[in-house]
Amino acid sequence: MRLFNTLSRRVEEFVPINSKEVRLYSCGPTVYDFAHIGNLRYFTNVDLLKRALLLEGYDVKHVMNITDVGHLTSDADTGEDKIERSAEKARMSAWDLAKMYTQYFLEDIKELNIIYPQIICKATDHIKEMIDMIRKLEEKGFTYRIGDGIYYDTSKFPSYGELLGKEREKALSGALPGARVEFNPEKRNINDFALWKFSPKDKKRQMEWDSPWGVGFPGWHIECSAMSTKYLGNHFDIHAGGVDLIFPHHTNEIAQSEAANSEKFVNYWFHVEHLLINNKKMSKSEGNYLTLRDLKNKGFDPIAFRLMIIDHHYRNKLNFTFEKLEKYATTLERFDITLKTIPLLEETNEEDYLEDYALAFNNALKDDLDTHKALQIFSKYIDVLNDYIFKGRIPRNIKQKHFQLISHFNKVLGILDEYAIPEEIKALAEKRYQHKKAGLLEEADKIREEVFNKGYKIIDYSNSYLIIKRRYNELH
Ligand code: AMP
Ligand code: ZN
Repeated sequence: MRLFNTLSRRVEEFVPINSKEVRLYSCGPTVYDFAHIGNLRYFTNVDLLKRALLLEGYDVKHVMNITDVGHLTSDADTGEDKIERSAEKARMSAWDLAKMYTQYFLEDIKELNIIYPQIICKATDHIKEMIDMIRKLEEKGFTYRIGDGIYYDTSKFPSYGELLGKEREKALSGALPGARVEFNPEKRNINDFALWKFSPKDKKRQMEWDSPWGVGFPGWHIECSAMSTKYLGNHFDIHAGGVDLIFPHHTNEIAQSEAANSEKFVNYWFHVEHLLINNKKMSKSEGNYLTLRDLKNKGFDPIAFRLMIIDHHYRNKLNFTFEKLEKYATTLERFDITLKTIPLLEETNEEDYLEDYALAFNNALKDDLDTHKALQIFSKYIDVLNDYIFKGRIPRNIKQKHFQLISHFNKVLGILDEYAIPEEIKALAEKRYQHKKAGLLEEADKIREEVFNKGYKIIDYSNSYLIIKRRYNELH
């Protein structure tokens, strides 16, 4: 497998540290609100990466954190804690709020058919590990104390910013957005960042802990260094995030982990480009965001959104529109119709030649996770099936390979899972069919609408019909 590595800015051959098991860490959500579909694009792309690695025969140990404390509204270690601020607004405890949005997040990713990471770890459960790592950094002389906390001295880490490539000089001079805001004059260097922040004197925080330096809470970056080391070791294979995390978050993770452990931290950095809306980055702070609930309320199946993500390479920006989503919903319904029609076809003995679609599919994924191309290959196979449907017959040798092939594609795509049609819907569809046969078209139409409103569509053939799941709520 070849993957683009942000560290080298090149597509590289992927070679895991242990030949069998890939160790993958992906930065998780900050649970102060619902995830928006930009966040969810990123989580879906990580899922696609993981599934492609699994398809290649690797075991994947996947760890994802939940940021439930310490992510401030400004990247420059000033501003408020997002969780505490949101809890105050909602008049809830910070703990309950974080728990609630974690639950919503887990539901969202489940609906997108994202395989849960084996380890999902909360920052607030790992304060001790973070303190231990800060102490290590302190012993090695990488920290200093100022009025509001313990800071990391970036001048002590000569390779600071290597993840930034050509942007490094700009970052070191403070010209990149991450370092922009309200420079704290007590800091020694512009990019120095908080490892531990003291609780404010004038206000009681809900989430705070004792530490060797005083009561306070961890800086945002230290949680990922501490938890990835705990579960994956000092040195592991892949670390993922959205491109906005390259600086300062991942840059600072490298500085912390490599200084604390005196070892290389991560071999491959996998960064997902942004989801845009009206050609601007979707973000909470801009207020231009949609959640998965918004898509569902408009009648869309989350899997249509998954299909949209699959169709766009993870390193390209993707501008979201509802028109596009509608196109993917329709495509998904077409896939359903084709796949559900195959078992109904007459089988013939003549043999047909079938290209090696599975191999082509794997090769696309191995080429820097080209899910767009992989989906095209899958669509070509669907076209082949549609030809058989048109003829009403399918060669037995093709059908024998068919189910295995579909399951192969679906291991990565995750869009074709079997679903059971409820008995009630089946009965309604049968009743409608009988009405239609008897020429009672008005009654038949009424039932069709009822079935539609219950989330299913009836597809008519001359002497039969099919029921599929409705992927969006336009009646065609
Ligand atoms: P957060 O919940 O803010 O910590 O973000 C969770 C993840 O979503 C991070 O890896 C971000 O880089 C990523 N992310 C944020 N906004 C977008 C976006 N518009 N498109 C894609 N990924 C995003
Ligand atoms: Zn992180």
